[in-house]
Amino acid sequence: NRQHKVMVVDDSSIFRNQMKKMVENMFFQVFALAHGEEALLILEENPDTKIIITDYNMPVMDGLELTKAVRKKYTKNQLSIFVLSSTEDSDVSAMFLKQGANDFINKPFSKEEFSCRLNNAIEALENIDTITHYASRDFLTGLYNRRHFFTVMEPYFIEAANRDEEFMTALIDIDNFKIINDTYGHDTGDQVIIHVSEILRSNVQHQDVVSRFGGEEFCLVLKDTTREKAMEILERIRQKIALTPLSIGRDQEIFLTVSIGAALEHDNTLNDTINEADGQLLHAKNSGKNKVCAV
Ligand code: GH3
Ligand code: MG
Ligand code: MG
Repeated sequence: NRQHKVMVVDDSSIFRNQMKKMVENMFFQVFALAHGEEALLILEENPDTKIIITDYNMPVMDGLELTKAVRKKYTKNQLSIFVLSSTEDSDVSAMFLKQGANDFINKPFSKEEFSCRLNNAIEALENIDTITHYASRDFLTGLYNRRHFFTVMEPYFIEAANRDEEFMTALIDIDNFKIINDTYGHDTGDQVIIHVSEILRSNVQHQDVVSRFGGEEFCLVLKDTTREKAMEILERIRQKIALTPLSIGRDQEIFLTVSIGAALEHDNTLNDTINEADGQLLHAKNSGKNKVCAV
């Protein structure tokens, strides 16, 4: 039922194969590996691995070194590390947990105990994924929220400046939205926001970033583009929104327009760029709305 990737790392081929079968019976996709270095190689090819089950004593790279190496790249909330060891020494388990192992199980152990612990770990990872997903999105439209937009854009602005890549940042604000709300009610206003978000999403490329900044305002970043191309896309979006009414109830349609302020940048800060786009948006609003203004 689940397609999560799990690694079993143990130098004993008998134990390794036993564990592989057991974990496969829990419907996971399993990689069986003989030591830490092999595990790191496979992890590089499978960065979406969810669980590593490792032995302590192994040649080439032992379980502790493996744990330390994995924790340089993955947090406990991204990848769960299970240590299985026959050591009697309680200092060893403490040492592993300090280095970032999620769980430590003494060999021999019962199948039931092991599978319960593994399922718990997977459930915890899935819960964190769900929470992370909702924390980064706007509830109404499913678009990135303002906070997440900044999280993904800060590094992009630096990368783009290093590559000398040009991109367009655009603020899109629905015109006279208050009137729509007052005339048709808040629920219809919400539908209008969703309607606009869908047009935005379906008129940009996969690499571009669309977010809802709040209220009836959206921010769009068109990556790796020229002024000409970006203006064409923004103009197309403006027209598409103006020409695509939202149907409400029986034969009632709401026509709406947006104003767009944009700034082409390749070496400015995120805040400055957004402020420039905001200035252009104000310009579009003050000069009649339903238009694109850019610097
Ligand atoms: P302009 O053309 O200058 O942009 O005017 P406007 O009426 O669109 O803008 P204004 O900022 O005056 O009003 C925006 C309104 O949007 C006010 C607020 O109550 C409403 N609003 C904010 N968030 C939501 C929401 O999530 N759903 C709905 N339905 N309305 C919202
Ligand atoms: Mg508005
Ligand atoms: Mg507004």
